[in-house]
Amino acid sequence: MKAILVSECGGPEKLVLGDVAVPTPGAGQALVKIVHSGVNFIDIYFRIGLYKADLPFTPGMEASGIVEAVGEGVTDVAAGDRVAYAMCRGSYAEYAVVPAWQLVKVPDALSLDKAAGAMLQGMTAHYLTHSTFPLNDTHTALIHAAAGGAGLLTVQMAKMRGARVIGTVGTKAKAELARAAGADEVILYDEQEFDVEVKRLTGGKGVDVVYDSVGASTFQKSLNSLRIRGMMVSFGNASGAVPAVEPLLLNQKGSLFLTRPTLAHHCLDRQELSWRANDVLGWIADGKLSLHIDKSYPLADAGVAHEDLASRRTTGKLLLNVEG
Ligand code: NDP
Repeated sequence: MKAILVSECGGPEKLVLGDVAVPTPGAGQALVKIVHSGVNFIDIYFRIGLYKADLPFTPGMEASGIVEAVGEGVTDVAAGDRVAYAMCRGSYAEYAVVPAWQLVKVPDALSLDKAAGAMLQGMTAHYLTHSTFPLNDTHTALIHAAAGGAGLLTVQMAKMRGARVIGTVGTKAKAELARAAGADEVILYDEQEFDVEVKRLTGGKGVDVVYDSVGASTFQKSLNSLRIRGMMVSFGNASGAVPAVEPLLLNQKGSLFLTRPTLAHHCLDRQELSWRANDVLGWIADGKLSLHIDKSYPLADAGVAHEDLASRRTTGKLLLNVEG
């Protein structure tokens, strides 16, 4: 089968299309014939070596497709099922072996491209807004990169929960997208000091929570944007990893709470995964949640997709069209 292989960490050119054997599903696993694979920032972290993986490896943490075969003891899915999954590495390939408990059946009303595109960023937006800091209509949230893949979904879910949303984006076109997703206010953070603007927009108080996926370049000002006893949710490093933090800083900035969550710890078992995935896929199928797919690339062009994502040129979701 065709698969992207990374034999040494580095730039997008390290994503090389090669031929490898189709894997065999073991006990509790299923073999999925991949139709669409999602492209996520985490794939860049693995490619550059910020997140560690044994070499060589096939990147990609998200896909949709058809179950081809199942291993011993698998009862959750069967051959022929339309499925989607996230957080199992190796989806930049024609086939992947996935623990069966991580596979979610795709509703008939939902296309496989939308299913692939919704899983990782959708379940992330879900845990951020429902679990890490459960929003309600008394809250104001600051959401960075609000027109990005995770951003557009987080904005919509924050609005579904009744919160007031302030988004930050890099361009005016992205501001339009964030507003269309429901953001009440949008700040162009390359042009304005967003912490000053947030304080102005909240009457000097600050927001209840910051969902910060940008990392190094926004961290300090995100702390400045919080109300006393607000919650800093640092969940990504798009601009680089956040350096070490002195606990005393959290005292000085207003007895703040700081957390650094990840999706895997919010889909601990089939029950938790099903809750989040069925909410996300169901809302998209019902039209309550909108998924913006920016672009689909052939599998061989995974490197181009990485370049586009890292250069801030994209909005919403990027996919690899594996079957086509
Ligand atoms: P995005 O579509 O959000 O793309 C990244 C965006 O970040 C860019 O479009 C850009 O938007 C903004 N950005 C700001 N500064 C930079 C920079 N220096 N380099 C690159 N981008 C920058 O990507 P994803 O939705 O895939 O991921 C968003 C973030 O969420 C990532 O950090 C990812 O690791 C994190 N994440 C974390 C998860 C978790 O569980 N912890 C799970 C899923 C995602 P703009 O131009 O508007 O500034």
